[in-house]
Parts: sequence; structure tokens; C-alpha cells
Amino acid sequence: MRPSLTQVSSVGVPKPVADATHAALFAAGRRGLEGMALWAGTQDGTAFHVREAIVPQQKGIRSDHGLAVMVDAPELQRINLHLYQAELRLLAQIHSHPTHAFHSEMDDEYAITTALGSFSIVVPDFAVDPFSIARCATYRLSPRPWWKPGSRPYWASVSARAAASMITILKD
Ligand SMILES: [Zn+2]
Repeated sequence: MRPSLTQVSSVGVPKPVADATHAALFAAGRRGLEGMALWAGTQDGTAFHVREAIVPQQKGIRSDHGLAVMVDAPELQRINLHLYQAELRLLAQIHSHPTHAFHSEMDDEYAITTALGSFSIVVPDFAVDPFSIARCATYRLSPRPWWKPGSRPYWASVSARAAASMITILKD
């Protein structure tokens, strides 16, 4: 049985992966849309090695309720097949917001990463600034504490400091 993502306490992200992620979000932002990328890789106990950024076929949506980015079911199936064949697992989804970085109700409800312990990272300001974990809002799908009603996991906020110490962009 493969280890649970909840065990992961350090994440290494090669710089080209961070760059590709940032470029995709920045390009969407230039068009006034939110952008989304996924990080996939391999787990070695408490360490997770991100191997690739997956930029799904996506639809940026502009409505009276604001912006959102959607990935349809066939594309998710295609990504799952790719992950299976490449023996990679999904660790994180990264998406941009026009201004503030936070997890909206939509983000909670329609997250692509659904494994306990996976991450959701929200990049502010349409990714105009260089990519920096410390400037993002980071969440982690966590078991609900026993004193809270309901049994579904929830997206727990991870402090910027904790996120930046856990997730490292590898220079080379
Ligand atoms: Zn969002």
C-alpha cells in the first residue's frame, strides 16, 4: 500500500516546474482569467519529489459571481490515466486569483486534488510577481478534528511560514 500524503512534511519543487506553473498562471492572468496547474511526483516516506507541472485543458469563467477556473471530467480522466501510466501521484493544485489569495467556497467544493494530505495553493494578483510560496495562500486537505461535527475532511489553512519551510523550490 502506498504511503498517505498526510505523512509528507517536505516537498521539493524543481525550478523548471515552478517556472512552468507560474508561466501558465501568468498567461491566464494576462487574459483576465484565473489559471490552474497541478503538481505530480513521487513520495518517499515524508519527502515528496515533484516531477512535473501539469497544465490541464481548462476553462476560465467570468460571471457575476466572479472568476473561476474549471477542468472538465474527460480532461481529469486523461490526467488520471497519465498519472497512472507515469507512476506519479497528484500532490497539489495551484491556481491564481485576480487579487487576494484565499480558498473560496467554490475552491473547497471543486478541488481537483482530493486525497487526504494534498495541497491547494492560491497565487494572488494573477501571478504578476515572481513565484513565491510565502506570498501564496496554502491549504491542506486535513481530517476534521473530532470536536467538529461532520466527518468530511476540510481544507485547513497552512501559515505562510509553515508552507514556505515545507515546500522548497530547488534551484538546480
Ligand atoms: Zn479560487
